[in-house]
Amino acid sequence: MPAAPDALPPLAGLTPASLDWQADETGSASPHSREFGDVYFSRHDGRAETRHVFLDANQLPRRLAAWRLDRPFVIGETGFGTGLNMLCAWACFDEHAPPEARLHLISTELYPLTRDDLSRALAAWPDLAERAACLLAQWPAAVSGVHRLWLDARVTLDLHFGDATERLRHLDGRVDAWFLDGFAPARNPGMWQASLFEAMAARSRPGATLATFTCAGVVKRGLAAAGFRWRKVSGFGRKRDMLVGEIAEPPADRRRRSTPWFLPSSPGPRRHISVIGSGLAGASAAAALARRGVQVTLIDREAPGAGASGNTQGLLYVKLAAETNDQSRCYLAGLLHSRRWLESLDPHHRLWQPSGVLQLASSPREQARQARFADNHPLPSDVVERIDAVAASQLAGVPLNHGGLHYPLGGWVRPQALCRRLAETPGVTFRRAHVQSLQASSTSWRLALTTDKGTEHLETDQVVIATASLANRFTQTERLPLQPVRGQVSALPLPDHMPAPHMAICGGGYVAPPHNGELTFGATFQPNQNDDTLCEADHQANLAELARLLPGYPERLEAAGVSLDPATMRGRAAVRAASPDKTPYAGPVPDATRWREDYARLAKDATRVPDTPGQYHQGLWISAAHGSRGLASAPLCAEVIASRICDEPMPLEATLINHLHPGRRLIRDLIQGK
Ligand code: SAM
Repeated sequence: MPAAPDALPPLAGLTPASLDWQADETGSASPHSREFGDVYFSRHDGRAETRHVFLDANQLPRRLAAWRLDRPFVIGETGFGTGLNMLCAWACFDEHAPPEARLHLISTELYPLTRDDLSRALAAWPDLAERAACLLAQWPAAVSGVHRLWLDARVTLDLHFGDATERLRHLDGRVDAWFLDGFAPARNPGMWQASLFEAMAARSRPGATLATFTCAGVVKRGLAAAGFRWRKVSGFGRKRDMLVGEIAEPPADRRRRSTPWFLPSSPGPRRHISVIGSGLAGASAAAALARRGVQVTLIDREAPGAGASGNTQGLLYVKLAAETNDQSRCYLAGLLHSRRWLESLDPHHRLWQPSGVLQLASSPREQARQARFADNHPLPSDVVERIDAVAASQLAGVPLNHGGLHYPLGGWVRPQALCRRLAETPGVTFRRAHVQSLQASSTSWRLALTTDKGTEHLETDQVVIATASLANRFTQTERLPLQPVRGQVSALPLPDHMPAPHMAICGGGYVAPPHNGELTFGATFQPNQNDDTLCEADHQANLAELARLLPGYPERLEAAGVSLDPATMRGRAAVRAASPDKTPYAGPVPDATRWREDYARLAKDATRVPDTPGQYHQGLWISAAHGSRGLASAPLCAEVIASRICDEPMPLEATLINHLHPGRRLIRDLIQGK
């Protein structure tokens, strides 16, 4: 494989900002950075400064009022700080933009404020209180990476935690207006580097504007060298000058040269999109598209959540590799994303429970692996923490022989109920039908459906395939390697007063906290098996796993009168799908025949990358291979697909978008001469 265009830094927690609170001119306390010895906003009037320096200088009131494109207006910022600029940009959008317009905010931050400090800083602006509350409710853990927040139906905020230059280099998205903020260049020279301006230029839309409070020479020189034209205008308050500027023709994105096959094609029509498969992958994709104003037909041969997403309980959990890799990055991002997504979809926890998950360290090998993981991943304890058997037993509410990795943000979900809820999203129409085939015309897709009434056809602008192990059944997807994996869960009635774990516990399998008087545990993992009928041997295997996770527990159940006879046990079997590298597929469907021709020479020399951009089945997308961790991957993959279709910034770094790309195995196989 050619070298990765831009390797990501190790997954890590970030150092929170360290603040002093100093009296401003009105007498209230305003934040001051100890690290940089500078203020977050003017002590004279922070709001007026934001309006003058960032909103008006980028001409946002006028531009937002005139916004008619069917993609969002994108603002990019270096240095999120207290979020004042972004909340003001949101308010400005609400005041000026037409009702159908959307706004996408991107902001980088290397030293995120703690939630308490953020709350204290934003309390200075009572009229922003509602917006601040929305930000605070979703404020992410201080972990490097992209965190997508939904500020309201029309406004999205992507927080890119990490160094501004590094984050913008990894940004897959383009910006219409820049807020070049950060502490004064003299106090923060590390940020105001030529490489920052280059990264901004490369992520700009043609005509993108910028504004910044400073006129420092290093900024003027750097902006000019990167291709921005700047001019001085009058500054705010006591500052005489500030800079505004724009870029007419942004430079070509250099990353594209190393992986031309991943080059996204231009967005197509998207008034009506069909999503095939209404499990978690399809239902979340349908909801993500509908949220963006797309009319969605969600098609399934059964009901929403009838397939592998049909269990009464499913775990929101991840298993991360001891050494950071892109798959772990995707899954951790997915866990954090799903947690925020569930919280905003169902704040009253009717469809899910934030129970936390324990990855049990029950063997010396797993203990050593977890120790390596913890050494390699300095992550905050509100994301993952190593705990001993005593702490684990306390958290679980049942005695455990081992500790492990505790993920407080994990939990369990009622997947079928969740799929039903997603299928009811306004803008989504559910249709019960079997899709026989897909046929492309020049601008649309024609689906041949078998329904109760016979054969019908459906015309639609684009199609998302989300049919798990059947996803490569269409001629367009038949080259996509997918493996069916049978899994069976078992359930036992739980006698009243019998203690059971409050938290989900995972080892080889898992046991979930009780639900509706039942204890669910499992699941078997049987690659290349397609059979979804219940089998006694699998119940036996699940009972053995339960005994490993909770030693002595099956015996106590039996002593309390519960029959452990596999012949009478309840459960459910379903077929999931996995890719050969166990990463989901999320993205456009490549034209495999063309790829084999266009990139044939990679087989001889993988370093000689042809210029040819990847050819796709235009308007055909896939979200599949979520295996048994779909709750952590499918909602984020839905955002990946919906964001690309709707020409928006992506919710993950470019490298991770490529990692999820459905064409990755084709390239790998070509390079390996397969
Ligand atoms: N825009 C902010 C607001 O509305 O509150 C104020 C920004 S404050 C003046 C500067 C911010 O830049 C701080 O939050 C600081 O942590 C952040 N920062 C400093 N160096 C950075 C870097 N290299 N990458 C990303 N953020 C950085």
